[in-house]
Amino acid sequence: MPDYQATYKKLCEHYLKTTKLTGVSELIGWDERTMLPSKGGEYRAEQITILAGILHERNTDARIGDWLSELADSPWAAEPHSDQGTVIRQLKREYEKETKLPQRLVEELSKAHVLGQQAWVKARAANDFKSFAPVLEQIVSLAKEVTEAIGYEDSPYDALLDFYEPEAKTSEVTAVLAALKDDLVPLVAEIADSGKSPDREIMQRKYPIAAQEAFGKEAAAAIGFDFEAGRLDVTHHPFCCGMGPYDCRITTRYDENFFPSAFFGIMHETGHGLYEQGLRKDCYGLPPGKYVSLGIHESQSRLWENCVGRSKAFWDHFFPAAQNYFPEALADVTVDQFQFGVNDVRPSLIRVEADEVTYNLHIIIRFELEQALIDGSLQVKDLPGAWNEKYQSMLGISSPDDADGCLQDVHWGAGLIGYFPTYSLGNIYSAQLYDKAGEDLGNLDEMFARGEFLPLLDWLRTNIHESGQNYRATELVENVTGKKFDHKPLIRQLRAKLAPLYGIQE
Ligand code: ZN
Repeated sequence: MPDYQATYKKLCEHYLKTTKLTGVSELIGWDERTMLPSKGGEYRAEQITILAGILHERNTDARIGDWLSELADSPWAAEPHSDQGTVIRQLKREYEKETKLPQRLVEELSKAHVLGQQAWVKARAANDFKSFAPVLEQIVSLAKEVTEAIGYEDSPYDALLDFYEPEAKTSEVTAVLAALKDDLVPLVAEIADSGKSPDREIMQRKYPIAAQEAFGKEAAAAIGFDFEAGRLDVTHHPFCCGMGPYDCRITTRYDENFFPSAFFGIMHETGHGLYEQGLRKDCYGLPPGKYVSLGIHESQSRLWENCVGRSKAFWDHFFPAAQNYFPEALADVTVDQFQFGVNDVRPSLIRVEADEVTYNLHIIIRFELEQALIDGSLQVKDLPGAWNEKYQSMLGISSPDDADGCLQDVHWGAGLIGYFPTYSLGNIYSAQLYDKAGEDLGNLDEMFARGEFLPLLDWLRTNIHESGQNYRATELVENVTGKKFDHKPLIRQLRAKLAPLYGIQE
């Protein structure tokens, strides 16, 4: 009988070493997006490319195939949700996928994506889509090569989506987002017709950046972010990355004359960071100690940003602190005015600053456009026009320039095609999880008003973070909530929160 134990150990050791190297790659990638002087970009792109090549070699090492085929007959393989079964199942899936991508393609992708991000930063600053178009054309053409190399059943987009939301299908995502859109559009109209809106001038007062940073950190720490195992820095396009079990970096960008931008950015990235910090340390880097999908990752950020951070109870607790940090801006403001201010729902141009209701329409636009780029029905040069048409038809607005139009997001420049829908999946999951947490824990609002956020974090740790990849995303949500994947809880929660503000129906 084969020595399964010894083989399993070799497999795990190989991946644990790879994880340490991945952490190095994450670290220089983080540095590139936060600290790197602009002239250092090209050399850094080469460094990242070399590391991507080494990682790909390690991930496609033929010994992995041998170890996995031996372990396929082990008793563990028959228990797909146990830790060992999960390691075998998930590594097999990843290995099969990686080995379909030729080394040349992996290195080209990596370099194109780093240079693409750098080109995007310049093009956006200069409002110059023309300079960015050839870079994006190359990225789209490489993405098409990826879909052919990986293969797909129905739609080439499936192959890309799978990188971010494993096992999700384009057709299913399309159906869920369509149902969501059907419920959101009337809600946006009801709010517009309510004739009510917050006093917007309050959010546009002067909020000194140092105070924003201190207040953001206080809130992040209060909801459980461990600053001895993480940092907060400044970037162009906020993100979170984990580079070790005790090293998670979150980022934001500040606008001195608009409070919500950085604060909710920090709440959002903290939500991601809490998931990273909540992963199991005993198997960090192996599938039971890894995040399960970007949709679930996003559910964690949305839950803290929106379900918690925009609630009345959250501000009942935090508003006095806000008044201390921003005495000039908030001296004459009430908590009700402030909470209405952070729930300002109306069509706008910038996705990352959109309210949580219209946000999903921004996603649906991108989801449709990137599918069209991949299936060839849209050419890169026609993207600005197509972008504005969709904004006009779905949100009734269009951007005066490309910087705030199709150049606003880093994703396509960074090669992240297939990523956008995971944001809306995250919104949907977050509402389902938040419902269930409330059922299990009792009145969350009363806890928040007392400044108690850790019971909710503990609940998420137990039910989501520590579950790693032992179940796939939809199974996990179904196991935890006892309900099928459903967008209705999101609509219900939005209506419940917004009804008292806008006088619409719950
Ligand atoms: Zn996010």
